[in-house]
Amino acid sequence: STMERSASRQAKKKVVAVVGGGLVGALNACFFANRGFDVELYESREDIRRAKVVKGRSINLALSHRGRQALKHVGLEEKIVSQGIQMQARMIHSLNGKQSPIPYGKKGQYILSVDRANLNKELLTAAESYPNTKMNFDHKLQDWNAETGLMTFVRSDGSKEQAKADLIVGCDGAFSAIRKQFLRRSRFDYSQTYIPHGYMELTMPPINGEFAMKPNYLHIWPRNTFMMIALPNLDKTFTCTLFMPFEEFEKITTGDEVIEFFQKYFPDTIPLIGVNTLQRDYFRLPAQAMVSVKCNPYHIGDVCVLMGDAAHAVVPFYGQGMNAGFEDCIVFDEIMDQFNEDFSAVLPEYTRVRVPDDHAIADLAMYNYIEMRAHVNSKWFIFRKRVDNI
Ligand code: FAD
Repeated sequence: STMERSASRQAKKKVVAVVGGGLVGALNACFFANRGFDVELYESREDIRRAKVVKGRSINLALSHRGRQALKHVGLEEKIVSQGIQMQARMIHSLNGKQSPIPYGKKGQYILSVDRANLNKELLTAAESYPNTKMNFDHKLQDWNAETGLMTFVRSDGSKEQAKADLIVGCDGAFSAIRKQFLRRSRFDYSQTYIPHGYMELTMPPINGEFAMKPNYLHIWPRNTFMMIALPNLDKTFTCTLFMPFEEFEKITTGDEVIEFFQKYFPDTIPLIGVNTLQRDYFRLPAQAMVSVKCNPYHIGDVCVLMGDAAHAVVPFYGQGMNAGFEDCIVFDEIMDQFNEDFSAVLPEYTRVRVPDDHAIADLAMYNYIEMRAHVNSKWFIFRKRVDNI
């Protein structure tokens, strides 16, 4: 009952520190707050809801069933889904401009294109709405002590702050500072692999106030070693993401070469993106790297646990990184029920059930990326392999 719930909340004084207020950290704060813990969220950036420019890793992303289940659990599914754009199928663009749809599943099934910054803001607002959650922005975790649980944060003015918690939840992304303490411990497995491909985002503006292409699709231009995808945004733009080996990015050094390259591989997109926009945006930011990180275990004793990219960064060829991170939250939550919130039992069980699944997702994402490159001469085969996933 509500009475019992609030009574147990009052009795519970345990503090959970969620380090990282990205997608997974902000959602996780909701899960722990929902259980009545005192939640302290620490995020290195300023509050992105107040920032003018939000730096992120991709402008939009594909939200699928796994992710939605976790949002539903804390009452956020409807809100987030209402701000997404349905993608009912992939739309494959062949070199001659022909477009062929390949559905994601049965009629009526779809994945959603969501704006990363907006999603993160909504999740932060949801976390903040719990009276038992405190948001600490501009708190960059510098180090923590696995014996005492003492965390040290640096502020932008250079000052330091220390804090303790009963449980530290590392949601601080692929380059996790929390994970550093794990690396120093015996029997901790860790691997990190950069792939030779980079990615670059280009904006396709609306044409006469409308989407330049059909909006309810995830557009894909499979080109053997290269690939471009495009996801729709609410402002009727598309964000196109070009994936290609760094050395190929580096070969293109002038505006004319950009157009030549697009003319050769993605000719149908030139009039849609526009020659000037294309030439300008290509040189705006360098191509970004992609890393795959695997580790095991995900916990230290009963004091610390890793979730999201901090535990498993995957290459994006499956569109499942965030979704898997969201699923981490719900899996952990279920184990909390099973073991009565006893961290000394919950944390090892979480590692036991979660590591194999997260490693499988990392392998599938990497397998798909390698598969694409290994069969460069069989267009149809690559085409199938590419599109089966995102
Ligand atoms: P992050 O989003 O990286 O958040 C980590 C947070 O921790 C950040 O806010 C950061 O500022 C903070 N932080 C870092 N260090 C510290 C510190 N020392 N102290 C305090 N705070 C700190 N996934 C999908 O499911 N679908 C997709 O379609 C998809 N597309 C992608 C496309 C690209 C190009 C890329 C690169 C990734 C894509 N992903 C996708 C993966 C997805 O972006 C990640 O899985 C997701 O962002 C992980 O969330 P996170 O909260 O674990 O980490």
